[in-house]
Amino acid sequence: MSKQFDSIMQITPRPDTVFERGEGSWLFDSEGNKYLDCVQGWAVNTLGHCAPQITEALTSQAVRLVNASPAFYNGPMVECADLLTKNSVFDQVFFANTGAEANEGAIKLARKWGKVHKDGAYKFITFDGAFHGRTLTTMSASGKAAFAPMFEPKTPGFTKVAFNDLDATERAIDEQTVAIMLEPIQGEAGVIPADPEFMKGLRALADEHNLLLIVDEVQTGIGRTGTLFAYEGYGIEPDMMTLGKGLGGGVPISALLAKKEVCVFEPGEQGGTYNGNPLMTAVSIAVLEAVTEPSFLPTVQARSEYITMHLMNLSEQFGMGNVRGKGLLLALDTGDLDAATIAAKCMEKKVLINAPQAHAIRLMPALNLSNSEIDHLMAVLSEVLTEMAE
Ligand SMILES: *Cc1c(COP(=O)(O)O)cnc(C)c1O
Repeated sequence: MSKQFDSIMQITPRPDTVFERGEGSWLFDSEGNKYLDCVQGWAVNTLGHCAPQITEALTSQAVRLVNASPAFYNGPMVECADLLTKNSVFDQVFFANTGAEANEGAIKLARKWGKVHKDGAYKFITFDGAFHGRTLTTMSASGKAAFAPMFEPKTPGFTKVAFNDLDATERAIDEQTVAIMLEPIQGEAGVIPADPEFMKGLRALADEHNLLLIVDEVQTGIGRTGTLFAYEGYGIEPDMMTLGKGLGGGVPISALLAKKEVCVFEPGEQGGTYNGNPLMTAVSIAVLEAVTEPSFLPTVQARSEYITMHLMNLSEQFGMGNVRGKGLLLALDTGDLDAATIAAKCMEKKVLINAPQAHAIRLMPALNLSNSEIDHLMAVLSEVLTEMAE
């Protein structure tokens, strides 16, 4: 570890690079290098770095009102919640700051609903490979194998089932089960989509057994998969949804959305100092206005097809596996090739991509990247794969 970073707590291996500035799909480091960024703050910069709409929302709100208190209404909070309910199947919104916190809120709300409506049922069914956050309870909900032995004892009440296995899910239901929670596309697991029949089957199981169906759309929400929310692509209506990442376009804000009949919190049961503050909700309004502009999502879908075509060509050329995902949340199965090595070699060539699994690279670029930026990405990826094949 280099001396100059001694005061940063070490929670992940980081390269020595220090980033200073961003613009659209590009990041600039302190040495003057320019990188094509297909990580985008971990799929958070919906409109790229320092998008003008976001800068405008931040600066104009910053001189008007930054925090009035979570115990008062403010204009952007109300407007943002209205936009979210108007564009989804949900009726009410609870704002928080991180994806994990929104998921904690969903778990608490489901347990409260179980107390009121289901004789104290409190157990969740969640899935192998799932990632729901890093608070102790959301780690308990996650199905990431590496989390299992950490920080024991964790929060009880989470039954893990194989993803896309409807029969196993049904077998795991008992009288104390209150909810099923899943990511429509498991992101950290390497971009693994829920099968359409699986998602429809979960909705039917939830109806049959009086359970809540909760979608964690922290990574898939806000246009990432080519529809505003990924559940739309499945033709089902969940009872709750959580949002984070792309909702803030780079700033920390998250949300829990629920159908009216599920909104059973009473005063004193849920809160948070920064929740619904006008500075962050003003930014989310700008993001939502951009993404719901009529031509925006069709363009995301066109970009997705363009990238997918290129990735399939590379896969064929270099003998790799399939292309997974939807919209601009895409992964390539790298076959025998080590994904972390591919990502590291791309970074040497000033392109940032992510390797969430040993044999998968993931792309989560700005939703508004250009075709020429995609061409640059593919040229560098091809160069790296050629070098590795030599
Ligand atoms: C990133 C992520 C989270 C956690 O969000 P944080 O803001 O890091 O707490 C939860 N669920 C999913 C699906 C995610 O991708």
